Amino acid sequence: MSDKKPMSLTMRIVIGMLLGIVIGALIQFTLADNAFVKEYIVEGLFLVGGKIFVNSLKMLVVPLVFISLICGTCSLSDPSKLGRLGGKSILLYLSTTAIAITLAISLALVVSPGVTDGEPLTSEATFDAKQAPSLSQVLINIVPSNPIEAMAQGNMLQIILFALLLGVAISLSGESGKRVASLFNDLNEVVMKLVVILMNLAPYGVFFLMAKLFSEVSVTTIFSLGKYFLVVLFALGIHALITYPLLLKLLTGLNPVTFIKKMRDAALFAFSTASSNATIPVTLETATQKLGVNNNVASFTVPLGATINMDGTAIMQGVATVFIAQVFGVELGITDYLMVILTATLASVGTAGVPGVGLIMLAMVLQQVGLPVEGIALIIGVDRLLDMTRTAVNVTGDSMVTLIVGKSEKEVDVDTFNNPAAGKTTETL
Ligand code: ASP
Repeated sequence: MSDKKPMSLTMRIVIGMLLGIVIGALIQFTLADNAFVKEYIVEGLFLVGGKIFVNSLKMLVVPLVFISLICGTCSLSDPSKLGRLGGKSILLYLSTTAIAITLAISLALVVSPGVTDGEPLTSEATFDAKQAPSLSQVLINIVPSNPIEAMAQGNMLQIILFALLLGVAISLSGESGKRVASLFNDLNEVVMKLVVILMNLAPYGVFFLMAKLFSEVSVTTIFSLGKYFLVVLFALGIHALITYPLLLKLLTGLNPVTFIKKMRDAALFAFSTASSNATIPVTLETATQKLGVNNNVASFTVPLGATINMDGTAIMQGVATVFIAQVFGVELGITDYLMVILTATLASVGTAGVPGVGLIMLAMVLQQVGLPVEGIALIIGVDRLLDMTRTAVNVTGDSMVTLIVGKSEKEVDVDTFNNPAAGKTTETL
């Protein structure tokens, strides 16, 4: 038997990702016109492999959120804690989003990505704006009229509410409640095991997703939108590597470098799937097993964050608003920018973390300040790559708030947090 240490999951995912990028780019540059490669490799193997991977993650989301949230709620010794947890998390989620978009607008105003002295930017692409939900609709929609339908549609806020109520009822039901709670605890163990098993497929899944994307992504579009692209990336970088560490240090005293290191797997999953929702199983595993946050906090804050917290998306919206205003020569005043901050922050509550939803929210923000929604067509070409990056930031934000709330409730095991080996997945199938 060899005593070589198995390669860590992160390493395997990174290798899959790099291989995918290289092979995808090679196909784009050398075999783009080959009908066989296009039909059977790119639209065949890569597409099917990538979709199977994303679906296998999504498959776990509803059962995992439902089961772990019930476990979390029934293990709360004091039900009034629920209200406190909710209040703190929502406040933190909204404030970090507002900070993110303010940072993005300020940066974009300094760099002026939409002011060009060369050719004016035009685009053939069109954008069909979908209606974003109104605030009253968002509130009504939190209460499911049929929990099974909520689960079938993957409506996260409705599932969260139903699981919380059921959890509270279980904890108030004496002996019967104890029996049901112990069943859910066992189910939770089993589903978490399934998460770990499926995470082992990630290197292959990530390879397929990257190979498909890079065999199609247009390099010329990226160059023509270079300034916009770079400002968004830069703002995302500052938020993830400066704002989050500062907040974490200030509010918990925990080591931000340890936090960023432990976020690697979840960030990689978020990057390759471009969906905070699909990443919930990995974020939850990271929060509980690696960051040491008790499941009774994480099972609530992680799915809630995946739904209402989108700092990375808000950053894209801030930069995009300034960019589109500049391209169309519209002057925006300070009240307009305040409006943008408010709308983008609130819009993130009503829209779920799935790929591309940021553009729908952007349509709402643009309308609010009277900018042409067609401006979105300008940036759509590079949105997929930015979507991936901002989703990684969204998920990092969810985990940071989870840690802060957990620490304030004394529900973080600091030894697990400080242990670099905690929760490492080296198991192979
Ligand atoms: N894909 C992002 C997420 O899932 C949302 C977006 O920015 O479009 O968090």
